[in-house]
Amino acid sequence: MKSFRQDLQQQLLERKHNTLLRQRRTLLSPQGTEIILDGNHVTSFCSNDYLGLADHPDVIQAYHKGLEQFGAGSGASHLVSGHMGSHHALENELAEFTGRSRALIFSSGYMANVGVLTTLLGKNDAVFEDRLNHASLLDGGLFSGAAFKRFPHLDMDTLDKQLTDSSGQKKLIVSDGVFSMDGDKALLPELITIAEKNDAILMLDDAHGFGVLGQEGGGLAAQWQEQGVQIDEDNLQVLIGTFGKAFGASGAFVAGSEELIETLIQFCRPYIYTTAISPAMAEALRTSLKLIRKDNWRRQYLTQLIQRFKDHCADLGLEVLASETPVQAVILGDAETALQASEELLRKGVYVTAIRPPTVPQGSARLRITFSAIHTESQFKKLLDSLEVVARMSSLASMT
Ligand SMILES: *Cc1c(COP(=O)(O)O)cnc(C)c1O
Repeated sequence: MKSFRQDLQQQLLERKHNTLLRQRRTLLSPQGTEIILDGNHVTSFCSNDYLGLADHPDVIQAYHKGLEQFGAGSGASHLVSGHMGSHHALENELAEFTGRSRALIFSSGYMANVGVLTTLLGKNDAVFEDRLNHASLLDGGLFSGAAFKRFPHLDMDTLDKQLTDSSGQKKLIVSDGVFSMDGDKALLPELITIAEKNDAILMLDDAHGFGVLGQEGGGLAAQWQEQGVQIDEDNLQVLIGTFGKAFGASGAFVAGSEELIETLIQFCRPYIYTTAISPAMAEALRTSLKLIRKDNWRRQYLTQLIQRFKDHCADLGLEVLASETPVQAVILGDAETALQASEELLRKGVYVTAIRPPTVPQGSARLRITFSAIHTESQFKKLLDSLEVVARMSSLASMT
């Protein structure tokens, strides 16, 4: 059928005309700070491997050992014969790490979020989401069939009002912990208070907070607990983490009460009808978790890089969003400027991706710079030096 392809072509052309066409670049090296990208050696500032564990020798060794002990694949879903000792051990360690009764492993964060939301919510319920929530949370909310409300980013008054006005049977508030494209944090104590006041359930997806926040990398909830705020599985009922960021591998987990996890095992289709992650990777993840908890120096080093970066951008007059996490957004406005800035940096051997709509709101196209605990001083300096050209482009763009 010819028109099928022509229709697709039309749509693709339109995307190209709007400077929104995405292109994949191929890496021929491990994930790290010096990578080989489309054949060129460049310094990377765009991976989510915040702690530098994706290529850590201990993690790789655990992976090797896991392969020898358990083989490459899990062979089946968890409910058939794919639930192996390494998965079970990892779940127990995650439960302990998060201070929850139980944890459950998913193949990806996207599946965990869609799975949890579609399992917990039905058409008589209502879900309330921060506007800047990750796409998987928005999709999960929409797929669930529940009444779907978004509130402006971090706007607790609007959220409170939406909850009060809602006639949903069950009300669920969902938020990123650390926002993936802005790097700022959910107002967790306020969310807890508002949820309790309105008899709502609270779900936090801390994909970018785990490993990065808290003394042992326990994420946003742990950071607040360390400051004396009472947080547990009865006031933050659903806690999500992913293995693709600071853990350095892939997959995700849900942590919560006995009842929550058992409900997911029984009813969550994206948990039930999919093959369990590789048992060898589960072994690698157990070692990642140990390093995350033990190596506080990685977080301290990141904090220092982030502060110096922000100071430098302030000197250059670059607009950087308020964020104290390794996700730093330099706002350039239109998609074209962001894309050109990214290409200019790449010519200087610095790889930073341009993030454009629809991933971020119109007019807020940006460079999303991420830091890793394994960035060296000279790599860091190289980034700072290369930002001068971005500052020039940014001020030119704002004049036109
Ligand atoms: C990356 C991310 C996800 C998706 O996790 P995957 O394991 O990559 O599918 C979900 N939520 C947030 C906030 C994320 O940043």
